[in-house]
Amino acid sequence: MAHIVIVGAGIGGMPAAYEIRELLGKAHRITVVNSTDYFQFVPSNPWIAVGWREREQITLPIAPYLERKGINFIAKPVTAIDATANRITVGGDQAVDYDYLVITTGPKLSFSEVPGAGPVSSGGGGFTHSVCSVDHAQEFFADYQKFLENPGPVVIGAMPGASCFGPAYEFAFILDTDLRKRKLRHKVPITYVTSEPYIGHLGLGGVGDSKSMLESEMRNRDMKWITNAKTTKVEAGKLFVSELDDLGNVRKEHEVGFKLSMMLPAFKGVDAVAAVPNLCNPRGFVIIDEFQRSKAYKNIFSAGVCVAIPPVEVTPVATGTPKTGYMIESMVGAIAHNIADELAGKPAEAKGTWNAICLADMGDTGAAFVALPQIPPRNVNWFKKGKWVHLAKIAFEKYFLRKIRKGNSEPVYEKYVLKALGIVRLAQKDRP
Ligand SMILES: Cc1cc2nc3c(=O)[nH]c(=O)nc-3n(C[C@H](O)[C@H](O)[C@H](O)COP(=O)(O)OP(=O)(O)OC[C@H]3O[C@@H](n4cnc5c(N)ncnc54)[C@H](O)[C@@H]3O)c2cc1C
Repeated sequence: MAHIVIVGAGIGGMPAAYEIRELLGKAHRITVVNSTDYFQFVPSNPWIAVGWREREQITLPIAPYLERKGINFIAKPVTAIDATANRITVGGDQAVDYDYLVITTGPKLSFSEVPGAGPVSSGGGGFTHSVCSVDHAQEFFADYQKFLENPGPVVIGAMPGASCFGPAYEFAFILDTDLRKRKLRHKVPITYVTSEPYIGHLGLGGVGDSKSMLESEMRNRDMKWITNAKTTKVEAGKLFVSELDDLGNVRKEHEVGFKLSMMLPAFKGVDAVAAVPNLCNPRGFVIIDEFQRSKAYKNIFSAGVCVAIPPVEVTPVATGTPKTGYMIESMVGAIAHNIADELAGKPAEAKGTWNAICLADMGDTGAAFVALPQIPPRNVNWFKKGKWVHLAKIAFEKYFLRKIRKGNSEPVYEKYVLKALGIVRLAQKDRP
């Protein structure tokens, strides 16, 4: 009997646990370890920040759902990984041995790279907010309610080194919609400040017509923007930004005033993972091969935001490549098949397709993109806007949370609807 330990119960970790359980049956032991005792549906956090969702609507207690599937759960952070002894330490003192380790720990939010950045709860400067976690989104909402009594300028965007740009656009448009509904938009100048070289780059070198469509949307909504923006520090009510030219020289210095700000930080790997010798790149992301396996440790696999993916292209201000939900699930599918195959004495050769599919809400409308594969040139490359995306995103939230409750990692209708669109999770062969 093998013991498979999954560290991190987020968008990648929960489906990983279910899919591994489904493929391995009860013959093997599975344990999930997560820093918190609840699962949060991260894509809904921007809605929490404007009060369109309550915390209880997008979080779930993990233990009962995993236990129902015969999966053990430990609600403590992993504090150390001894990859040569096949052992992790949980909560500082509890040792857990494993045969296979699956790392799905998501990002460490690296606010400290820009002095003054980060919400108060993160221990950063406390001058900018984030919507990366449900706690941060609630912190924004608390400040937003005070802000509404006496509104002023807002700055939204992404810090140097950021890789997850979609939610920054989403949040700018959601906030715009919320303020318009409240008839307060005329009192709130919004500036979008981003490390991307142009609007709509998204860390992907653009997708279809994303540049002109997102620029047009921003113009229609009276938003200003600064691209190639290297935010160097934040003080109370002021963002200091060096705008670079295409060669990386400073084109203009800006001091952008704000009353409320949400700036997505750069991501790093979490400390316990980053500390493992030879496992990670210098930013603490797990280096994997095409089968999602660590290049240094044969019994460690990894999926999600915590894996190392090179940037799609070099940009004047550093940007990274986003790892979106469906891409993460394709990584997870490959891991489950590879562990199952290896335990059955077969070679592990499943590969995720890493297709980038994203639904970005814009409050009253939305934008969807599909980039197959994610690095250009692509076979499928489209970016479309419409109210249907806003509705699809709401449906997706309900659907994903239901999937987590039911413990079914790839329900049959998902498999066949997406397959009809030419989107499959595993590159190798279409496995059952
Ligand atoms: C605000 C926001 C909105 C997004 N919206 C979308 C979207 O609409 N569509 C889309 O496709 N993608 C979206 N993404 C991108 C991506 O899908 C999410 O970031 C997703 O949550 C990443 O999944 P993950 O499993 O890698 O990490 P996470 O979901 O963050 O899960 C990581 C888990 O690991 C746990 N953990 C961390 N460290 C430890 C430790 N030491 N020990 C134990 N547990 C630990 C955490 O508590 C967490 O539960 C969004 C990202 C953000 C930040």
